[in-house]
Amino acid sequence: MKKILITRKLIKDSEDKASKTFNPVFNTNDELYSQSKVIEMSQGCDGILTSLTDKMDKETINKLPNTIKIISNFAVGFGNIDLNAAKEKGIAVTNTPDVLSDATAEIGILLILGACRRASEGIQSAKDGGWKWSADYLIGKQLTGTRLGILGMGRIGQKIGRIAKSLGMVIHYHNRSKLSEDKEDGAIYHDNVKSLFSVSDVLSICCPATKETENMINKETVEYFPKGAVITNVARGDIVDDEALIDALNRRKIYAAGLDVYKNEPNLNPGYLKIKSAFILPHLGSATKDTRIAMANLAIDNIDEFFNTGKCSNKVN
Ligand code: NAP
Repeated sequence: MKKILITRKLIKDSEDKASKTFNPVFNTNDELYSQSKVIEMSQGCDGILTSLTDKMDKETINKLPNTIKIISNFAVGFGNIDLNAAKEKGIAVTNTPDVLSDATAEIGILLILGACRRASEGIQSAKDGGWKWSADYLIGKQLTGTRLGILGMGRIGQKIGRIAKSLGMVIHYHNRSKLSEDKEDGAIYHDNVKSLFSVSDVLSICCPATKETENMINKETVEYFPKGAVITNVARGDIVDDEALIDALNRRKIYAAGLDVYKNEPNLNPGYLKIKSAFILPHLGSATKDTRIAMANLAIDNIDEFFNTGKCSNKVN
């Protein structure tokens, strides 16, 4: 049986499956392993089941024992892993697509609604008590008829688009490549971000964090939006330059922000704390029991498939 290091605690059903599939090394206390601890713990192992909290950079990968043949990431995103370094060392990297798209799209919609309808201020007022109803009390932005820009119209972006369309929004998107009409489902393609942002009353960021997308929301691009636009991010914190967004929120160039992810998690840029219209969640995208089990099971199956066939359909490097 292959010996696999599982760097974070999984839901029990998934740990049971791992025990049946291979010889697992569990992290029973769910301790956040340092990079040197991952290297130490992986001695004698054939593979590692990592999470997005594991920074598998070039230096870490180069120091892994030569017995490691696969890094199976418990996420669809793989910005935490240096894919080239893994490839050079002959290590396959896999991810968990599709099974988390529904749960993450739900959070993407929650961000849009929460930011547009001033949910943070509403929750605080309800808890504080003493609020008084009036015709203009906590008036927000209604979605009906507004334009939703989707940056990264992939699995999650398309689901958000479909739900938003049912709320009466008009969908625009930008990808590097235009989708088939079937996948577009009536959404309007923009071949560059300037064009997309300029028609986005609300933006939903759904693309991966890569060198290309890092800080795509920045001091310059924030000016492309219509005044009073709303920016939401369900993808990865690295795509947004927080200082630029905070400044735009303070100037009311941007009306509100909805963030499930941000740079340097779990430490939120303190600039957001003073902004009432910031609706911020602690990376909850895939956080439902069914989804987390499905992700872990897929991460386990990826390892199994790889060792049984030498290939894996979810290999990303
Ligand atoms: P996906 O199906 O691969 O979709 C990604 C989309 O982004 C594709 O349509 C792709 O189109 C586009 N894209 C890639 N690079 C781009 C670029 N440089 N400029 C513009 N568009 C670009 O991925 P997914 O399953 O929807 O997941 C998307 C991301 O969501 C993941 O990478 C992950 O980081 C994040 N996520 C977050 C959570 C959470 O907990 N908040 C949960 C799951 C996923 P082209 O290739 O044509 O450009």
